Amino acid sequence: MNTPDIIEIDHLSFQYDGVNVLEDISFSIPKGAFLGLVGPNGSGKSTLIKCLLGLQKPSQGAIRLFGKDQRRFKERSKIGYVSQKANSFNSGFPATVFEVVSTGLTSKLGLFRFMNASHKQKVKEAVEAVGMSEFLNRNIGELSGGQQQRIFIARALVSEPELLILDEPTVGVDAQNVYTFYELLEKLNKEKGITLVLVTHDIGTVSEKVTHVACLNKFLHFHGNAKEFEQLCEHDVSMFYGHNVHVLTHDHHHGGQHV
Ligand code: ADP
Repeated sequence: MNTPDIIEIDHLSFQYDGVNVLEDISFSIPKGAFLGLVGPNGSGKSTLIKCLLGLQKPSQGAIRLFGKDQRRFKERSKIGYVSQKANSFNSGFPATVFEVVSTGLTSKLGLFRFMNASHKQKVKEAVEAVGMSEFLNRNIGELSGGQQQRIFIARALVSEPELLILDEPTVGVDAQNVYTFYELLEKLNKEKGITLVLVTHDIGTVSEKVTHVACLNKFLHFHGNAKEFEQLCEHDVSMFYGHNVHVLTHDHHHGGQHV
């Protein structure tokens, strides 16, 4: 039986000021996948994520989330999002880890509602899931970049999303902690079954952890499983920079995939 697709991107194009930054992108992300969305700086990764989240309107094409047209998709709490700028609280910021993670409940609770014991329990569980229980009552600003980023994952997890999208989450995280950070993501994917989309230009580290890779540079240069991608990298690294166009995989939904 085929696994249902969580995200379907169908002939998507996007323009800023009349210039195409994404052109004719089609691929799907199955339930349970851990997708690495890779490509050089300025290749359109963040723009694609903004289109998925409904923050930008594609100039052409369609997106389906959980089988529904993106424009009619209402179940926002099914999707967690962690942006690259999340981990930048300075040391004086007056909020505890518990408080920051609690704000992740607003999509379910609405603003300014009081939390009951079960909400508090959900916050604690989310902090535990990212291995940060001992920091629950600490001020967020006292934590390192990598620790703050874990807390932002907990904030996204607290509404129990089925899909978690992370845009360059390791910016500001020191190299030593990047690997353990990816291990955390792998655990969330394997143990909690959360579908993950990880935007990164760190192709080397991520290809060990992800199940699928999509490589963008305005066009979709590659989409397939991580093994195929690694094999390709051994032959030709220049594809990341868009010098070559490769035909690698076939997208069963949209006829041929021209990557
Ligand atoms: P990436 O996330 O891969 O670094 P982006 O999606 O941020 O790439 O950017 C893709 C292209 O769109 C780049 O050329 C960038 O300069 C341009 N761009 C991004 N945001 C805007 C904007 N708000 N207005 C105009 N151009 C933009």
